[in-house]
This record gives sequence, C-alpha cells and structure tokens, in this order.
Amino acid sequence: MKKVVIIGGGIAGLSAAVHLLRKGIQPLLLESTKKAGGRTTSFFDPNFNSYLDNGQHILMGCYKETLSLFSQVEIKSNFILNESLHIDYSDGERYTLKAPRYFYPLNLAIALFRYKPLSFNESLAALFLMMRVLANISSRPSGKNVVVWLKENGQNDNLIKYLWTPLIIGAMNTSVEKADAGIFCKIVKEIFFRGKLSSTIILPKSDLQSSLVQTLEAKITSEGGVINYSSQAVRINKKDNGFSVLLKNGEEISAEAVILAVPRHALNKIALPEDLVIDQQSDLTYSNILSVHIKSDEILLRESFIGLHNSPVHWVFHNEDFLSVVISDADEYKDLSDQEILSIIIPELLRHNILGSEKLTAYRIIKEKRATFVPDINSSKLRLPARTNQKGIYLAGDWTDTGLPATIEGAALSGRLAAEAVFSPGH
Ligand SMILES: Cc1cc2nc3c(=O)[nH]c(=O)nc-3n(C[C@H](O)[C@H](O)[C@H](O)COP(=O)(O)OP(=O)(O)OC[C@H]3O[C@@H](n4cnc5c(N)ncnc54)[C@H](O)[C@@H]3O)c2cc1C
Repeated sequence: MKKVVIIGGGIAGLSAAVHLLRKGIQPLLLESTKKAGGRTTSFFDPNFNSYLDNGQHILMGCYKETLSLFSQVEIKSNFILNESLHIDYSDGERYTLKAPRYFYPLNLAIALFRYKPLSFNESLAALFLMMRVLANISSRPSGKNVVVWLKENGQNDNLIKYLWTPLIIGAMNTSVEKADAGIFCKIVKEIFFRGKLSSTIILPKSDLQSSLVQTLEAKITSEGGVINYSSQAVRINKKDNGFSVLLKNGEEISAEAVILAVPRHALNKIALPEDLVIDQQSDLTYSNILSVHIKSDEILLRESFIGLHNSPVHWVFHNEDFLSVVISDADEYKDLSDQEILSIIIPELLRHNILGSEKLTAYRIIKEKRATFVPDINSSKLRLPARTNQKGIYLAGDWTDTGLPATIEGAALSGRLAAEAVFSPGH
C-alpha cells in the first residue's frame, strides 16, 4: 500500500484523508496544533458555558463535495437542513427572500418577484442575468470586478445593494468592488442551478468541532487512518523512493507521496525540495471576519439567522441561548478594542429588534485576520493546481485552483482533487 502523508488537518486535509481511505489507502495526517479543523474550529467558553465557534459557518445545498464526506445519517444528525431557499433580512422592517418548495427552478423566479426591496423590473433584470450566466451568454466576466460586470449586465444600484451584495459578502468575504466576476459567475451557477436544494442554507446543529470535524476524524481513524496532533512539518526532503517529512520536534517520517493541505501563507514556511516549482515569496491577500458572540436575557430575534441591510453588521445567527454576530470583509475592525466594536454592534442589534436591551451577560469577540483569501481578479493567477511539477507532491487547501472562493466546499473539493492526483497516471 502506498504510504501517503497529509500535512494539515483542516477540511482540505480531512477530505483528502477520507478520499484516500475510499481508494484503500490509510494515510497519516499531520496537524501542527492540538486539534484538527483549522479554520473550522470551536472552543469551550466558561462565560457562555458552551462551545463557541471561531466564527459562525454556513453551508449550502450546493456543497456537494462537503456533504459527500458524510453519510446520510450523519448529515441528518449533524446539520439543520432546509427545503428551499429562505433568507430573512432586516432593514428596520423585515422581509424575506423565500422560494416555494416546489416547481424548481421556477420557484427561484417566484422568490425574486416576492422579494420586497426589488421592483418588478429589477427582479426581471436579475432573473435574466442568472439565465444568461447559466447559458454562458453574459458579457465576459474574466478580468473584471463584480460591480463593473453587474452594471454591464443591466443590474442597477438597488439590485446590487439588496440582492447581489449580501451574496458576494457572504460567499466571497469581500466587497463587490474587489470580487472577481469570474468566480462570482461560478457561484451563481453552483447556488442556483445545481438542483432544487442547491440554494438552501445548511447550518451546523451544534459547534463546528462536533458537527464537522470530530465526525470526520472518527471516520478516518476508525478506517485505519492515523492523525498525529502537535506535529508541525518544517521540511520535506527527497529520498531514494519518495520523501521524508521532518517535524519541528525532530521526528522524521518517510512517505511515497505527500499532500500539502496548508494555507498558502503556511506553505511558504515549509522548506521544500529545491526543484519543486512553487514561488515561496508570493502569497495571496487575505480578508478578516469579525465574530461577536453575545449572551443576553433579552434576545428578541425569532429567526434562526437574519441578514442586515444598511448596517455594518452582515449576519446575526440565533444559536441555542446566544447570538453570533458576523461582520465579513472586516479589515477596518482589526485594530479596534472590544468596547469600540461593541459600541458599533449593540446599537445595530437594538435598531433591528434583535436585542431588547444593551445589557449583555457575556460576550466574546474573535477576529480571524486571515479568514479567507481575497478572491479578486489577481487571485486566480496565484492559485495552484493539486498536481505540482514533482511526482509525489500534491497541494490541497481552499486557496488552490478549484474555481471556488475560500469556503468549506472549496477545501473539501481540493482534498478530493489532491487524493485523485495521487492515483493519476504517471503519479
Ligand atoms: C470566521 C470564519 C468564518 C467562515 N465562514 C465560512 C462559511 O460560513 N462558509 C464556508 O463555507 N466557509 C467559511 N469560512 C472559510 C472556511 O473556514 C475555510 O475556507 C476552510 O475551513 C479552509 O480549510 P483548509 O483545510 O483549506 O485550511 P485550514 O482550515 O486553514 O487548515 C489548514 C490546517 O493546516 C495546519 N497546518 C498549517 N501549517 C502546518 C504545518 N507546517 N504542519 C502541519 N499542519 C499545518 C493548520 O493548523 C490547519 O489546521 C470561514 C472562515 C472563517 C475563519
């Protein structure tokens, strides 16, 4: 059996391990920290007496690669599934983007025409654009940012603000001014045209570690895969019949194939064989996500989550007995103190009738400074495929060239592509 070592225990590395096991290979996965999960992680907070995520994550029905890592039973027990597109918004007043359960894809048109912020003509313009994207007859998106491309394709400011911006900020964690229109078109196809459930929102039933990570870890180890924690890879050397992976603790592990499933910035810190063509001086740019978990005796929010318009806050999720507030593309918050951040967020929660009082019983602020790479028009040049110029060394991670933005789905797909590359002819 081929000895394959995976470096990095985020979703990409875990996905690679699951796919290798399906091909009969029992990999060794090396994770530098004490637990797997990477950017999908949770920790216990005594003030909340609960596990909190590093940031609320949503999945979607179009996350086929991610869902394929789980059995049907696990999907039902770990995730809250919905039957159709349903997103509640607040602009002060509440309104909903909701598709009926039946008549896909016609139900998407019904959702648009019923969505209050849009006029009839605006809904029609959005629908035409979606159909042109599906048929590949919109104006060429490559090399353009989304706002320019949307305007070229008949989308006015109101449509951009109330329909496309929440989608872009949520899925791409960047602004319409920066987002690459090519990646955006791919998302539109994935979300709206990959089957009747593709546009549905899927929420983890509990924290990320128990909903996603621990289920995958258990699957891997029960089938003979091994996960070593606190095992940071620092160097890969070529050996006669493959490679040796040197760990920070001095241990050396031999492998016939190595999958590097680490973020781009972490890849630059590993000493790689000299003839491996990877420019370790270059890197993607990254974008923040700010998460604020809030406990209060006066939570008024009835919806499971809500998007806010005309607000610095993008999403508020109603977890069991606390709120998780999300601000994407949050670079401007990175140097603010907790009190400064709360003084921006709390008035918004009061204004949108999410909280009844400014008095909090607990709060926890998490700034993920390199939450995702920025999927701008330069990013595609910096994304690398699973195969390298070296037989036996492969790349995975949400930043690799999957065509998707930095998401759980992109990471899961990259893991499969790397696992398949191990078996590709000549490798
Ligand atoms: C706050 C936040 C909110 C998000 N929200 C969403 C969302 O709603 N929906 C969505 O789909 N996506 C979301 N994302 C993005 C998603 O979390 C990531 O795209 C995905 O988890 C990336 O997985 P990965 O395996 O590619 O990388 P990572 O999760 O970064 O995993 C890489 C792993 O490699 C390990 N590692 C690094 N260097 C070494 C080394 N030298 N040796 C050994 N191990 C090493 C790291 O410790 C880490 O565990 C969000 C991200 C954040 C931070």
